[in-house]
Amino acid sequence: MMNKKKLEIYVHIPFCAKKCAYCDFLSFPGNMRMRREYTDKLLEEIRIQSSFVREYQVDTIFLGGGTPSVLDVSDITAIMGALKEHYDIAPDAEITIEVNPGTVKMEGLVAYREAGINRVSMGLQSADDTELRYLGRIHTYDEFLKSFQRVRMAGFTNVNVDLISAIPGQTPESWRNTLKKTAMLKPEHISAYSLIVEEGTPFYDRYGGHVEMESYEMSPEERRRLMALPDLPDEDTEREMYYMTRNCLAEQGYERYEISNYARPGFECRHNVGYWTGTGYLGLGLGASSYLEGCRFHNTSDFQSYVSAHFDDEAEFCQALRQDMEQLSVKSKMEEFMFLGLRLTRGVSAEGFITRFGQSIRNVYGGVIDKLEREGLLEHKNGYYHLTERGLDLSNYAMSLFLLD
Ligand code: SF4
Repeated sequence: MMNKKKLEIYVHIPFCAKKCAYCDFLSFPGNMRMRREYTDKLLEEIRIQSSFVREYQVDTIFLGGGTPSVLDVSDITAIMGALKEHYDIAPDAEITIEVNPGTVKMEGLVAYREAGINRVSMGLQSADDTELRYLGRIHTYDEFLKSFQRVRMAGFTNVNVDLISAIPGQTPESWRNTLKKTAMLKPEHISAYSLIVEEGTPFYDRYGGHVEMESYEMSPEERRRLMALPDLPDEDTEREMYYMTRNCLAEQGYERYEISNYARPGFECRHNVGYWTGTGYLGLGLGASSYLEGCRFHNTSDFQSYVSAHFDDEAEFCQALRQDMEQLSVKSKMEEFMFLGLRLTRGVSAEGFITRFGQSIRNVYGGVIDKLEREGLLEHKNGYYHLTERGLDLSNYAMSLFLLD
């Protein structure tokens, strides 16, 4: 049989029990009716969009959000059933579901496993209850621990824990404590990002230097609590935490394989690695982005438009829901290949560049490569160009040089 091309599928579930104060993802609480309408439309979309990707085999599926685990278990089972019915899914596909520690029950986890899900990604963010409260999370550290145990008891052997550093009021000691407590549980994968204060979030009102506060509806009491939050750690402290993450997780046996991602050997997230190395992906659900055959597009982000869309075939679907189709130029594809690939510690494949673009990487980027090598920020090893430790620390600068005019 002819080898099919690899595809990744992302399914967006936009609901969360409560909105976190720093979150700018496309997510909101949503009532039971909204969740019902959404799942029904998503099932339709899953069926219709499958006809675009007949020549692909699905290597990874990621149910993300939002918080997929706030949906009824039967909805998740139905979504998985529809995916299996309409797509060619590789027998060893990596299938991840994101869960919020405040929303996972044993029956649900067992049902996820039975539905074919084999990886769980848990948002812990901090092992300190005060910091969790500042972030607006709905769970305590203790609740996370119980959920983590349940995930293991349900039989999941591939688990990610998400962490955030540079939280309001956080000290390096507190961050070290979060790292250690997490590593002691031995999840297979840890993602550790620094907090970014995004526009349109309550945190932006508090920390974005805005005098006018308009982005969120809040009760006076909520606003008072927001404004009373402690300051963010300063730049030096944030830097200290960044180095601490690297060193502390290395000591605990985690290999840093991407700027902010760490894994035990063999447990790198295949879905994300695929994304960073240019594998095509199909996004299903509200606002989900896709990248197929060099073309990028996304679904509408408007909930009402999504659930009320009518489509009986692919053409009607595109008409109703697809937005901003953009065919990337060769230059943009080259830039993206470098930006995304250099996030990985193994770097970008020289051979992969030739296969994709029909010319050598040095032909296009020889000058930049020489400069970065001279500066000690880039190295060439085993057919890959990768940023050095210092290069990763200065990744914004290093990557900016790969922009083509
Ligand atoms: S649980 Fe995640 S997606 Fe939902 S509001 Fe919090 S950070 Fe955002």
